[in-house]
Amino acid sequence: MLILCTNDDGYLAGGLAVLAEAAAGLGTVHVVAPDREQSATSHSLTMHHPLRAKLVRPGVHHVDGTPTDCVALAVGALLGARPDWVLSGINHGSNMGEDVLYSGTVAGAMEACILGIPAVAVSYAGRDADRIPSYLPLLSKLLPRLMRAGFPAETLLNVNLPPIDPAAVKGVRVTRLARRVFTDTLTRGKDPFGREYFWIGGGTAEWSAPEGTDAHAVQAGYVSVTPLHLDLTNHALLADVEAWGLEG
Ligand code: MN
Repeated sequence: MLILCTNDDGYLAGGLAVLAEAAAGLGTVHVVAPDREQSATSHSLTMHHPLRAKLVRPGVHHVDGTPTDCVALAVGALLGARPDWVLSGINHGSNMGEDVLYSGTVAGAMEACILGIPAVAVSYAGRDADRIPSYLPLLSKLLPRLMRAGFPAETLLNVNLPPIDPAAVKGVRVTRLARRVFTDTLTRGKDPFGREYFWIGGGTAEWSAPEGTDAHAVQAGYVSVTPLHLDLTNHALLADVEAWGLEG
């Protein structure tokens, strides 16, 4: 079994090393990851300049592009064979609720999904990335349970690990996405030349996280597993919009 590992924190990130190590027991692992931090690059694809891949050591490439670029290059050229699975992460930080729309980690798995390859994105829902290696045993047990035969098509799994000691994890919850209700992330300031700037980021997420959501599970000390698909169609609204008579 050929497993492609990628991420959005860059090929040197500790979380990626843990993911690759957890996957190593399941097949041949090949890492193709960005050469630098690419968090929150979402599903962007580099089309206006060339991309370069460098073999860092056997089985590890870095690419001067986004996670989506990495998956495209890996599958199209670098691996020499189509991977059976794509694993993305372990992201240094949560990817819950609307975060999945901005996340480079989740986008890596989405790109695999578009290419028809089953994929799992894994994120650690805390800022203390030093704890991620302690999740190796848990992840080594969880991955083969997720990467099962007959994995549904056009689906990826989005996993979030709670920011607690893995020994205290209560179990696994299958969840839906929570909703972000408020995050104070826009900072306005003056640069050293007196020019105004804006800076997006930081802040603390506030969640609308009823029972059954990813954020609720993580806050309660569970590993969250959310099945995602890429069809953004609002199926429930199709008939209503048809009734508007737009089609003449
Ligand atoms: Mn990241």
